[in-house]
Amino acid sequence: MLHKVDEVLAGRLTEAWPRVVQAWRKAPGVFDGAMAAALGEPEAFEYTLLHALLKRYPDCELMLFAGTRDPSPQMRAYCLIGLVELRSRYLKELPPIVTKSSEKLSLVCGSIQGETTLGDFAYELMHPVDMKQHQEELRRAEAEWAGKERTCPKCRNRFIAAKNWSQCAQCRTSFFARQVPYPRRKLVV
Ligand SMILES: [Zn+2]
Repeated sequence: MLHKVDEVLAGRLTEAWPRVVQAWRKAPGVFDGAMAAALGEPEAFEYTLLHALLKRYPDCELMLFAGTRDPSPQMRAYCLIGLVELRSRYLKELPPIVTKSSEKLSLVCGSIQGETTLGDFAYELMHPVDMKQHQEELRRAEAEWAGKERTCPKCRNRFIAAKNWSQCAQCRTSFFARQVPYPRRKLVV
């Protein structure tokens, strides 16, 4: 893997850049770093490549900014991640084909695949969701709910709540633990 990263980044930045572009355009999707960190999934090659690029060529900022106008939405997404990690001043000048794009974007994180739009992806990247905090909130909501006696508001039947979902045995109404809003991206496992 490291060997391959070195191959892609060999030479000067202007020589390495076309190989980086090709790797990002051809990637199976955009690696979801926030999700992977929360789930402990290993990094995708294209993501490792991005960090190696930033380390080896700190002057790649302008290339990344130019890449936010690439025809491939996936390439634009990787360039955006790079600019976010550099806390680039160019983030204030992102083109609408990034921030307002409704083009479909595949997200990958280990065996999990998701789909979003580039515009939503850009929004989330710049307004990050804390996945660890989200999972803690889910667990808290379940703990508040499960194992306690409840009264069905419809038929006044009493029942013990199951883990995060219960059904009244009498009137079949369903009840759920407190809903915790999920990040906007849609995940398909
Ligand atoms: Zn009931």
